Amino acid sequence: GNKNMNAKLVLLGDVGAGKSSLVLRFVKGQFIEFQESTIGAAFFSQTVAVNDATVKFEIWDTAGQERYHSLAPMYYRGAAAAIIVYDITNQASFDRAKKWVQELQAQGNPNMVMALAGNKADLIDARKVAAEVIPLGTKLKYSSSNQDMSKIVVQDRKPEAQTYAEENGLFFMETSAKTALNVNDVFSEIAKRLPRL
Ligand code: GDP
Ligand code: MG
Repeated sequence: GNKNMNAKLVLLGDVGAGKSSLVLRFVKGQFIEFQESTIGAAFFSQTVAVNDATVKFEIWDTAGQERYHSLAPMYYRGAAAAIIVYDITNQASFDRAKKWVQELQAQGNPNMVMALAGNKADLIDARKVAAEVIPLGTKLKYSSSNQDMSKIVVQDRKPEAQTYAEENGLFFMETSAKTALNVNDVFSEIAKRLPRL
C-alpha cells in the first residue's frame, strides 16, 4: 500500500479540557499556562512516522462551547480519527466527553479511530475521574511541590474511564499537555490503528 497518507483528525471535548494545549504540545512542543479559548476552530498539521509509513494529520481543534455545537459536524464529518478530551479533575467534562462519543457513534464515520484522552494527568491532587480500579486501602504515593505525600484510598474508585473506553470501542490514555505525558503516544497510536491503504 501507500507509504504516506493524510488523515483528518478532530479534537472534541469541553471548554478548558486542554484540546488546544494538547495540539500545541504535539505540533510545537510547547505549553502555555494561560492558553486562550479557541474561537470556532483552529487548523494544524503534523506528520508522524509509524513503522515504515508516515501519516500527515490534518488537525481540527474545535472550540467546545455549546454555542458552536452546530458547527461540530463540519469538523468530524469525514474525519478518520477523533480525540475526545476531558479533564481528569472535572467530572462534568468526563460526562461531556461521553456525549461526544455518543454523537460520533451516531453521526460520525463508522470506521473512525477514536481516542479518549484524560488530560491534566499531572494534577493528581485534584483528580475526580478515576482511570482504573484502585482497591480500597491502597496507599497512593505522589509528590507535590517537592514534598512526598501519600493518601489512603478510603472510597472505592470506579474504573470509569478505562471501562467506558473499552465498552465503547475507544482506546484510552491519560495525558498531560503540561508535562507532555502520552501526548505523542496518543497520535502515534491513532496512526497505527488507521486502516492501511
Ligand atoms: P481547550 O478549551 O480544551 O482548548 O483547553 P485549553 O487548551 O485552552 O486549556 C485550558 C486551560 O487548561 C489552560 O489554562 C491550560 O494551560 C490548562 N491545561 C491544558 N492542559 C493541561 C495539562 O495537561 N495540565 C495542566 N495542569 N493544565 C493544563
Ligand atoms: Mg481550545
